[in-house]
Amino acid sequence: MTVTDHRLDAGQRALLRHVPTDLLIGGEWRAATGNRRAAVYDPATGAELALVADATVEDGLTALDAACAAQGDWARRAPRARAEILRRAFELVIERVEDLALLITSEMGKPLAEARVEVTYAADYLRWYAEEAVRLDGRVSTSPDGRSRVIVTHEPVGPCLLITPWNFPLAMAVRKIAPALAAGCTMIVKPALLTPLTMFLMARILSDAGVPDGVVNIVTTADPGSFSAALMADPRLRKVSFTGSTGVGQRLLEQSAAHVLRTSMELGGNAPLLVFEDADLDRAVEGTLVAKLRNGGESCVAANRILVHEAVADAFTERFAARMAEVVVGRGTEPGVTVGPLISEQAVKGVAALVDDAVARGARVLVGGEVPEGTGSFYPPTVLDGVPRDARILHEEIFGPVAPIVRFADEADAIAQANDTPFGLAAYVFTENLDRATRVSGALEVGMVGLNQGLIANAAAPFGGIKYSGLGREGGSEGLGEYTNLKYIAQVIA
Ligand code: NAD
Repeated sequence: MTVTDHRLDAGQRALLRHVPTDLLIGGEWRAATGNRRAAVYDPATGAELALVADATVEDGLTALDAACAAQGDWARRAPRARAEILRRAFELVIERVEDLALLITSEMGKPLAEARVEVTYAADYLRWYAEEAVRLDGRVSTSPDGRSRVIVTHEPVGPCLLITPWNFPLAMAVRKIAPALAAGCTMIVKPALLTPLTMFLMARILSDAGVPDGVVNIVTTADPGSFSAALMADPRLRKVSFTGSTGVGQRLLEQSAAHVLRTSMELGGNAPLLVFEDADLDRAVEGTLVAKLRNGGESCVAANRILVHEAVADAFTERFAARMAEVVVGRGTEPGVTVGPLISEQAVKGVAALVDDAVARGARVLVGGEVPEGTGSFYPPTVLDGVPRDARILHEEIFGPVAPIVRFADEADAIAQANDTPFGLAAYVFTENLDRATRVSGALEVGMVGLNQGLIANAAAPFGGIKYSGLGREGGSEGLGEYTNLKYIAQVIA
């Protein structure tokens, strides 16, 4: 493990001096009522990075006032004007890639190289929705009886509440902000309190790009439940888009019933990764590493269960375990590190408990499995073989670099095991047989399938799940529809 320095380094200190830590409401940076503050830490070292504003419910309602006041003008802006602001934001994010990446690594822990990828991935959504903003086409047709013209238009849904998690502090927010801006919506963004700094810097970039005051408001709070309940109880709010755990998503869905709010829910996952006997094993091993270790396993689409045909299971497991054993774990700013810390000590305890439970039920640890001593919330890349089907680790989101391997007998068994979960976000399939790829992709109960690859995120694609993994999609042309209402106008043909 590589942690040579537990203090903030000079680069972090210089950057943090320029990152806002107050609430952004109506274009003004302001302290929370009573100047309440909450600390943000570097999970690799435990060092305090900043004290950010801890908003009250009243601060949240003031942000809603600002979003409502800005809504009319923003919705009336020409699509091209909105598109050009988004395009400028894309360019500014690319110019600031190093600053944004260092902030992501500092507050979330992922290695710098991966943080840079997150920044360019987030920027892609700004570029994509700059392009989509001017192509929000409706349709016109003649009714079957020839008496009426059917005119269908898209209108912005109105002020939105966007709630985001800590695992991709920039990308999860921009995936919502970009289509909302393109559609003509104003918003209150509530980032996770573990990782708010990236969003604060992003808010400054959006202002520099020309986003008018009040269109994007940023509010951080240590009491997200009261905050979101108060905003959702206000009939002026028209939409909630949430990325986070299924339990919180379910609560928000219940609350959204009171005012019949539009909702988008990007929730938890339990992705199966299937390696068939006809897979290219090199590809399967490398693809599994990506699907397991991207973001240190702290990803909703991380491969949570590695299901391997019994004919190739020994060969696959040996090669995969050897690659997992080579991974360098450490502070994300250190050269050569490919897996950073988990977000918190509590997260380490959670992952360790899942591994211990699997081992107690008979699983064998091939790599890792021991929490290291010392500072920082680290958990090593771990491979478990022979994991029994009742082990908790196969039924809960691991959110860490642990790969439980389970064997299957045939295609039907593979599909049955893969679908044996209430979640339905992503799945991965490794096979060189086109017919099997087509059949299995169709049979998997998920929103997304990676075929012979471990990476599926793409701004041009509709990201999202079914079952307990959520409602709605982010990205693609579909992502814009989450922020528009359809209006049908029946025009008489005289
Ligand atoms: P979380 O649900 O604890 O928190 C997510 C956000 O919700 C944070 O901003 C948090 O402050 C806020 N929140 C917490 N309690 C709330 C409440 N009662 N009311 C309103 N807001 C509340 O999740 P997390 O631990 O930050 O993120 C990890 C989870 O997110 C995992 O389950 C992961 O699978 C999921 N996730 C899903 C996707 C996806 O696209 N489907 C992407 C990334 C993460």
